[in-house]
Amino acid sequence: MTRRPILAIAYDFDGTLSPGSMQEHSFIPEIGEDKEAFWARVNGDAARLKADNILVYMHEMVKAARKQGVRFRKEDIQRHGARVGFFPGVAEGWFARQRERGAAAGLDVQHYIISSGLKEMIEASAIGPEFAAIFASEFKYDANDVPEWAAASVNYTNKTQFLFRINKGVLDAGDHAAVNRYVPEDERPVPFRNMIYVGDGDTDVPCMRTVKEQGGVSIAVHPPEDAGLAAKTAQLKADRRVHFTARADFTEGSGLDVYVAAAIEKIAAVERLTALERD
Ligand SMILES: [Mg+2]
Repeated sequence: MTRRPILAIAYDFDGTLSPGSMQEHSFIPEIGEDKEAFWARVNGDAARLKADNILVYMHEMVKAARKQGVRFRKEDIQRHGARVGFFPGVAEGWFARQRERGAAAGLDVQHYIISSGLKEMIEASAIGPEFAAIFASEFKYDANDVPEWAAASVNYTNKTQFLFRINKGVLDAGDHAAVNRYVPEDERPVPFRNMIYVGDGDTDVPCMRTVKEQGGVSIAVHPPEDAGLAAKTAQLKADRRVHFTARADFTEGSGLDVYVAAAIEKIAAVERLTALERD
């Protein structure tokens, strides 16, 4: 039996699968700060220093925990990950449903995360085991599992490199040679036309555009009852950066579910046609 063609669904995390930012679910409350003050300090420092926001928030997490005498080791980061909540349907069958749909249409549906958040938190969250790979920011830890430096920071521009890693099947983020090696389009394990990207916009525009322009499907989601963010995603569609906008409702039969089901059917049909052409 030949391997089934892969269909990759790549998701942003914060604001896409989970409301707000992952730091707001339990870390920021634990350091006794309110989220507005925390993010104002991060964004203020980043602007003043012309620094990368992601590196600054990672440093602020370490500093704030130390200042408050709150434990902040790898296991604490995982503990905060386990407390992250999700939009409706995300943790109730979404991932398995798309895999089953794909399998019925002859595809191997794989789920991926590309996030500026913390990898350990996503891995330890309720949906961590669903992903073929999680590309996200990471700390470098000392011998006691205390963060001592940033090991990887994923921001809006470098998010796109992970699409190329999925495209070329180079999932080891430490492998810099293979991802840059020339591979003819038709020999890449996951062609862009077999990709669906789901994001909420903030850091996702380059990924949404890349997937859409290369023949895949891009979808912008917004929290179910948020008119302001709905307007923002509508603008992304008006600017032709995404094919669809939808409420972040991952339950069966929601608008988002219908769009993804249709994308799976389309991708399966293209794969069947391509296979017939090869025969
Ligand atoms: Mg987001």
